[in-house]
Amino acid sequence: MMARSQLGMPETQEMFVHLSKGMVESKDLLTQADKAIGDGDHGVGMARGFEAVLQKLQGGDFATIGELLKAVGMTLMTSIGGASGAVFGTLFRGGAKQLGDRSIFDAEVLSLLLVDGLDAVKVRGKAKPGDKTMVDALEPAAFKSHELRSAPLDESLAAVTEAARQGMEGTKEIVATIGKAKTLGDRSLGHPDPGAISTYLMLEFMREYVARDA
Ligand code: ADP
Ligand code: MG
Repeated sequence: MMARSQLGMPETQEMFVHLSKGMVESKDLLTQADKAIGDGDHGVGMARGFEAVLQKLQGGDFATIGELLKAVGMTLMTSIGGASGAVFGTLFRGGAKQLGDRSIFDAEVLSLLLVDGLDAVKVRGKAKPGDKTMVDALEPAAFKSHELRSAPLDESLAAVTEAARQGMEGTKEIVATIGKAKTLGDRSLGHPDPGAISTYLMLEFMREYVARDA
């Protein structure tokens, strides 16, 4: 038995179902994180968004990865609302850019998803690395995925998830300069950014799915 080095369409869809369930189950953790430095709605928003994604994914099959990612992004955008609806919706919609004709999810697809998704998030939200947002977890993950784009998917995802985790941990040392935590000033120190935690968790749930025996 071995972990998966790439996924076909049904398994890719299953991986996003696994990710969505994980995010729904992370509601309380994300609520606590946003209560510490924001308004406390991040867990509720993400759980509502990924509940809607679950419904969408269970409602039909997708022919390409691009189609699937666009559906995930649109669903998040319309169901979460607020800053994070736009940000996480844009991550998946923007990440779909070059994946319209792909039907195998491998390390190269992961890297196109994360690199194009990061670019789209930066254009839309204008956050730079060091602003204490999800960009601080997403950017190191995207760079690592590009480095490992020719590796087996399970290997790439393990390293990419670790890069995101370190980026998320790093947000504890940053004073927020954007979003709701901005008004806290130094009081945001010591707390990780909630959106960075979500970004790490999404990758962790993908990693977990791919690491299972095929
Ligand atoms: P809100 O800020 O509207 O209450 P949430 O609490 O759901 O929305 O999400 C907050 C998260 O969204 C932050 O932790 C941050 O990671 C992310 N975020 C907010 N604004 C931006 C932005 N301009 N660019 C990137 N990420 C952002
Ligand atoms: Mg909030």
